Amino acid sequence: MQTVLFHSTVFGPIHSRRLGISLGINLMPNDGKVCSFDCLYCEAGFNAQGPGRDGIPTRESVKRQLKKKLEAMLAEGQGLDVITFSGNGEPTLHPQFNGVVHDVLLLRDRYFPTAKVSVLSNATQAGKPDVAAALRRVDNNILKLDSAITATMRVLNRPASPHVIPDGVIADLKAFGGQCIVQTMMLRGDYDGKHIDNTTEAEVQALIAAYRQIAPREIMLYSIDRKTPAEQLQQVPLDELNDFGRRIQQATGITVQVN
Ligand code: SF4
Repeated sequence: MQTVLFHSTVFGPIHSRRLGISLGINLMPNDGKVCSFDCLYCEAGFNAQGPGRDGIPTRESVKRQLKKKLEAMLAEGQGLDVITFSGNGEPTLHPQFNGVVHDVLLLRDRYFPTAKVSVLSNATQAGKPDVAAALRRVDNNILKLDSAITATMRVLNRPASPHVIPDGVIADLKAFGGQCIVQTMMLRGDYDGKHIDNTTEAEVQALIAAYRQIAPREIMLYSIDRKTPAEQLQQVPLDELNDFGRRIQQATGITVQVN
């Protein structure tokens, strides 16, 4: 069974062509997964693996570990382009997410003031005032919307709560007044006897309508590029993603980044 990818709270730095030098923060357990979605493509595996035994790190522990890492990187003369909240689940589920973001921004300002702080979130908590306030403070508030059609969200993202539906997520994202980036995973495949395809004309039209309402500062389209827990999923080829990107950008007037 595919299981979690990250075995520490602070991980990296990872060098990537797209992000540069990137340090990751995992606010979920190091030996299990906790998420309000259970996406078929999750690189951390399915939620069924359980939350593990380590528990989530305290605010103090995150601060201490990040400070130590940043001091070491500075002492070694390393650079840093971005600090990204991602990891084994949904970072905004951390009960002190707001406080953690505050600490991370202060540490960034102190040690690497030119580095950006990004959060990759599934947006299920974005309607909570304290979470929304924290997300407004980071440089890149990157929120997931894979489908604007309820039935597709149900089979693809598998929200834990039946109350999470595209209309609610769209309203929460719209409330950022453009201070967000919407990220959409495009894929096709089969799972549990159901066919999944969020690249059909109806899906793309529904996404375009949602992007228009949300009016984010940018849209990011991507597809699978690692092993996924549901094994019969197919990657959408880059040239097709580029075509979707061009169409969506033309229809919405919003910059689309394909990666
Ligand atoms: S929202 Fe992210 S962490 Fe949660 S299941 Fe989906 S891909 Fe995995």
